[in-house]
Amino acid sequence: MIVEHLTEKEIQQYAIDRPGCEISTVEHLETCEYCNARVASYQLMFTAFSELSAPVNEFDLSSMVMSRIKQKKKSFLPDDLFVYSLVLVALVFTGVVLYSFRYVFLQLFRNLSYTVVYSAAATIFTILLLQLIENYKKYQRKTDALDIV
Ligand SMILES: [Zn+2]
Repeated sequence: MIVEHLTEKEIQQYAIDRPGCEISTVEHLETCEYCNARVASYQLMFTAFSELSAPVNEFDLSSMVMSRIKQKKKSFLPDDLFVYSLVLVALVFTGVVLYSFRYVFLQLFRNLSYTVVYSAAATIFTILLLQLIENYKKYQRKTDALDIV
């Protein structure tokens, strides 16, 4: 005769909720010492778990995390201002150079055909546009990664 013992799920169900078990489970447990021992070990384990108190930290975890987040926000704005001021300085410098040497630049392009100038301008514009799109996508991915909390 092949004896099929109860599954782990049935044993746990019996250890937690005896009246909610099926009759076949209860009948098996009336005769099987092996499964009764498994039920007893589960009951012992569940009792030990219920007697455990919730872990208490000696530090306030939420305030530590929140203080770090606030620090990051504080340092975010000055970095941003620094980058914007650098961009502004670069733009002003470029404008001053272009304005000061405008006759030299006009002389430089005078001998070139319009086709060469326009194709160079189109290439430069396309590269700048692609760089802008790539940077925007990178920025979006980073902000999306920050939103996942
Ligand atoms: Zn059994």
